[in-house]
Amino acid sequence: MPTLKTKLALSASLALAAGCASPEGARTGTTEAPAGEAETVAAAEADTAGTVHPELWPEVQTPPLDPAVEARVDQVLSQLTLEQKVGQVIQADSGSVTPEDVKRYRLGSVLSGGNSAPGGKPYADTAAWLEAADAYFAASLDPEGVEVAVPVIWGIDAVHGHNNLTGAVIFPHNVGLGAANDPDLIERIMEATATELSVSGHDWTFAPTLAVPRDDRWGRTYEGFSEDPEIVAAYAPRIVRGLQGEVGTDAFMGEGRVITSAKHFVGDGGTQGGVDQGDARVSEAELRDVHGAPYAAALEAGAQTVMASFSSWQGQRMHGNEALLTDVLKGRMSFRGFVVGDWNGHGLIPGCTNTDCPDALNAGLDMYMAPDSWKGLYESTLAHVQDGTIPMARLDDAVRRVLRVKVASGVMDEVRPSERPLAGRTELLGSQEHRALAREAVRKSLVLLKNQGGLLPLDPGARVLVTGDGADSIAKAAGGWTLSWQGGGYANEEFPNGQSILGGLLEAGADVAYSADPTEAELAEADVVVAVYGEDPYAEFQGDREDVDFVPNGFDTARLAGFREAGARVVSVFLSGRPLHVNPEINASDAFVAAFLPGSEGGGVADLLFRTEEAFDFTGRLSFSWPRTSDQTPLNQGDPGYDPLFALGYGLSYADDGDLGPLDEETRTEGAASQKGVFFERGQAQAPWELTDGETPLGPLPATRPGLAVSATDRAAQEDALQVAFEADGAVFAIQSGYGQDFSRETTAAMELTFDARSVAGEPSVSVAVGCSADQAGCFVPVALGSDWQPVRLALSCFAEAGAEMGDLRRALVVRGRAGQTIGIADVRLVPDDDGQADCGG
Ligand code: BGC
Ligand code: BGC
Repeated sequence: MPTLKTKLALSASLALAAGCASPEGARTGTTEAPAGEAETVAAAEADTAGTVHPELWPEVQTPPLDPAVEARVDQVLSQLTLEQKVGQVIQADSGSVTPEDVKRYRLGSVLSGGNSAPGGKPYADTAAWLEAADAYFAASLDPEGVEVAVPVIWGIDAVHGHNNLTGAVIFPHNVGLGAANDPDLIERIMEATATELSVSGHDWTFAPTLAVPRDDRWGRTYEGFSEDPEIVAAYAPRIVRGLQGEVGTDAFMGEGRVITSAKHFVGDGGTQGGVDQGDARVSEAELRDVHGAPYAAALEAGAQTVMASFSSWQGQRMHGNEALLTDVLKGRMSFRGFVVGDWNGHGLIPGCTNTDCPDALNAGLDMYMAPDSWKGLYESTLAHVQDGTIPMARLDDAVRRVLRVKVASGVMDEVRPSERPLAGRTELLGSQEHRALAREAVRKSLVLLKNQGGLLPLDPGARVLVTGDGADSIAKAAGGWTLSWQGGGYANEEFPNGQSILGGLLEAGADVAYSADPTEAELAEADVVVAVYGEDPYAEFQGDREDVDFVPNGFDTARLAGFREAGARVVSVFLSGRPLHVNPEINASDAFVAAFLPGSEGGGVADLLFRTEEAFDFTGRLSFSWPRTSDQTPLNQGDPGYDPLFALGYGLSYADDGDLGPLDEETRTEGAASQKGVFFERGQAQAPWELTDGETPLGPLPATRPGLAVSATDRAAQEDALQVAFEADGAVFAIQSGYGQDFSRETTAAMELTFDARSVAGEPSVSVAVGCSADQAGCFVPVALGSDWQPVRLALSCFAEAGAEMGDLRRALVVRGRAGQTIGIADVRLVPDDDGQADCGG
């Protein structure tokens, strides 16, 4: 940790950089605080009780209020009914709200979550988005029964380009953009993203994520630009300006601009153990100087909304933290826009539920994100205002803030979305200009970690064999929040304006071939093998890990050594949302490129692997420290004994000496790398999950128990599946853990358990339950099986309703069979619901 002195100095320099060199701001930034204050400063440093000292936070010079806007807001506010006011502070998800609902409840906003596009898929094309945008907008403006109708604003997570829109450019995720360390580039990217959002009729993006991730086990690390608050703070104002336009100029919220949301306030990247939605047990000074730093900069640039974090600080949920939301953010930091909640984040406050939570509004939240819970929440909030639990003044202030953003953004006077100037102009999606920009961003975000004997750049004439499961998959290179919430699994055709890394390499080199599984003959023809592999896509808590070890998935990196033995030199292009322990892979490679999650312009990778006429070079430098061992986390510059493999700021250019001696390959952590929600994979139960007979672990396979015989069987690869034979009616096979884990978030997020199964012998139907014990009869549903492998999907919510304890899940899967039945089972895991239907078996 930085010392108190450096931390305070950091806060002072940030305050100055943000232009808020007020006497107050400067005073808090000096270590020579007057007597009395020194004590408070010390208290903020040491205090772990969650006491907030607003006077120690930076003062921010936010843009002055515009009298004309304020007059209009006053006028509209005075004409609203109580019901309309309550509606304005609620946002519903398009998957759970109709235009008719928006009209009837006068809702302030609609969002589309990562899986909630109109139509049957998690993403949609321009026409479908515009049609939905028009319908919600028109409904909100229906004058029936009200004196004044207030237009709805529509928000979406355009977090690396407009990632749920067909044809949009997918920019690198923030982890890569941080390595570019180029605020100018960032502003241009945001401007392009805002343009693409305007094409589909969206008003608002839930970006930027200003998290400063400090523990890379966090599944959202890639959404953050850097572990270094200075990089994030330097980007923040440029992002706001790129999206909204510069305050005080005609560009502000003009053509092709959208409302921004700085998220997630505050401390999302500082949770203990890198647990998503967890608890940031850091001092107030660290909360302010590390996690809060980017907000001062974003607010000064005029960010109109701020999203509250799911996480807690010192045990208190941010959605209910009045001192931080009201006293610090709106008071000390002068934020005049509105605070939006995160996905049912209010429901996490003790004493609250998704449909009832006065505490959040009272603490300073101005708009609840109540995706599927909006109706119940509307009723309870109305009742709380009527009985005084929520003071009228607080509701009025929240509505005033929502209206201020709507008026200042011009939404109050907007024509319907499809009639706006850029609407429907699909030629702007993935335009030459936007693609070139994304390609530039890819080039600038790659970091070269090893270049033995100056292997890179390759001669364009070199004989290159490309392999690895990331080579020809835009979806893998793009990561989570791409076409769907979790991303992954989409064919390249679903990115009509994109190019895979392989596509780029084929264009750039004269003698490039591809092989998913290189043969000796193919290797004999190659001077160089380029292997593209890495983490499979994930989002949010699904990406939380127990350690920072890379566990190979779709490509067996043990093959790299063989490629070299066959005489080829090896270039690894590593796709990942964070630095990971890859020492064995680095050892087996001559050149190693950390590509992070580059997105849809694979050509940007080719630009750097081959020597080009433009004479590009690697300029990306790590914005996160790279671990030396799999247990080296948290790992941040300034830590005592800081000893990373590659330090913050590291990165080679072609001309640098890129030789690297052999690295220690020992993995210090054991099998802990499984992702939460992956129960059985590649033939293995994933710790802590074990195969059982419903009671006790089966141990090594084959295993027999009274009435049950379980053995390994081959499906796509050797012993990657299970064969389960039931020899007595009611015999049970289960995947369970010795201790319970909390899957309530997964349940509210509509996740489903999926596995592949087939019937081998006997009746082709079994009884299946999730989260219940074998004697909870009402919890089991019948599942029909075919004689070929088929995916089975079962929504967690079905079992929660039938009595499963999702907050303390011990049994991921329970299967009950009948004498004479044999079935096959493989790949048991949680996946997001992608059809909006709860699959309940039967
Ligand atoms: C995420 C937010 C996101 C919201 C809407 C939440 O789960 O934490 O970052 O903006 O969902 O999709
Ligand atoms: C939504 C995401 C959201 C997540 C939160 C998903 O179902 O699509 O937008 O962030 O739930 O848990």
